[in-house]
Amino acid sequence: MSDVEARLEELRDRGLYRRMRHVSGPQGSRVVLDGRPVLLLCSNNYLGLADHPRVREAAADAAMRWGAGAGASRLVSGTMTVHRRLEEALAAFKQTEAAVLFGSGYLANLGVIGALARLESDPGRPAVVFSDELNHASLIDGCRLARAETFVYDHGDVEHLAWGIGRSRAAGATGGVIVTDSVFSMDGDVAPLHDIVELARRHGLRTVVDEAHGTGCLGPGGRGAVAEAGLEGQIDVLVGTLGKALGAYGAFAACSASMRDYLTNTARSLIFSTALPPPAVAAALAALEVLGEQPDLPTRLQANAGIMRDELAREGFDVAGSATQIVPLVVGDPELAMALCETAIEQGVFAQAIRPPTVPTGTSRLRLALMATHTRDELRAAAHTLGRAALKAGFRPGAGPPVAA
Ligand code: PMP
Repeated sequence: MSDVEARLEELRDRGLYRRMRHVSGPQGSRVVLDGRPVLLLCSNNYLGLADHPRVREAAADAAMRWGAGAGASRLVSGTMTVHRRLEEALAAFKQTEAAVLFGSGYLANLGVIGALARLESDPGRPAVVFSDELNHASLIDGCRLARAETFVYDHGDVEHLAWGIGRSRAAGATGGVIVTDSVFSMDGDVAPLHDIVELARRHGLRTVVDEAHGTGCLGPGGRGAVAEAGLEGQIDVLVGTLGKALGAYGAFAACSASMRDYLTNTARSLIFSTALPPPAVAAALAALEVLGEQPDLPTRLQANAGIMRDELAREGFDVAGSATQIVPLVVGDPELAMALCETAIEQGVFAQAIRPPTVPTGTSRLRLALMATHTRDELRAAAHTLGRAALKAGFRPGAGPPVAA
């Protein structure tokens, strides 16, 4: 057996092997999964914009007008009108001076953290990055790639964060960056943004907030969790994705004009990577327009999330931490999570099982992602299906997660 096969075998033995399931058609609220019609409860197409007719048409038109691809990095072969237009629209949407596009949220986080860590560091001395323990993998990888000294604070624990800042100050560090998801991608809870901004202000630190799951979903007109908290203009770099609520692909950093110029000059994932394809850019632009015309879409999404949380609680599930459209059903053991996922699919509900290393060991779960386009009846029926599927898979909702395997 080769080392590759041995590693795969080991993943299978531990219940951690992954495969891609086949889904036909666009990411609507109902899809055909491996040949079986199911309610889709795990797509980040939160507002139904990925399959919205206007968004699709905009992508098709842009392909005809500007072509399928951007050809090179915008710093090499030039920027197209459509990229500029989207950046202006995103800055207006996030109420920042400027915005700059990145290839994806993953790339944006690598680029932004790398650039800010370099800015803060004395020659030869890496900056300190303060990072929530449940931050997305791309933020974690951003810290690693920047070779930044990273202080990982307990999830959402501002006292621990303040302690870490104090310790780094005592050791002689001056600048630094606090980095957090706004909406945590696996738990659906929201970061203590007010306290973070206050700490940053007090200690002269910069802030990076990843609004991947806040953009389009929370706040007035879907402007995000930062806007909902009344903190617009107080975050140094807001990262948002175009591939989730905005239904397309790509990402952006919203910030001051000088920070935009600094990122354009120093963020390696922006400089050394081909620009977003025009169809994706035009799709995101159209999605923003639709959102502007239908500002109730995020409200509908959060109403659906509330319905789902109530229905799941009625089935005995504990979803206590979730306050948004991301609703985790933590079962603990990875094989149990897989069994629950498979059983639910057999009964027409697709909610993906999420296992380590995506989530900490012992907290495998189904991660439900709601859409504004789900109906109340669909959600009620799905919660009931999940309750029955849990019993069939050997998990008793309400009994608490079993001990980690
Ligand atoms: N940040 C967070 C919080 C995310 O959940 C994700 C995607 N899962 C990303 C960044 C990466 O975004 P993208 O999919 O655009 O690479």
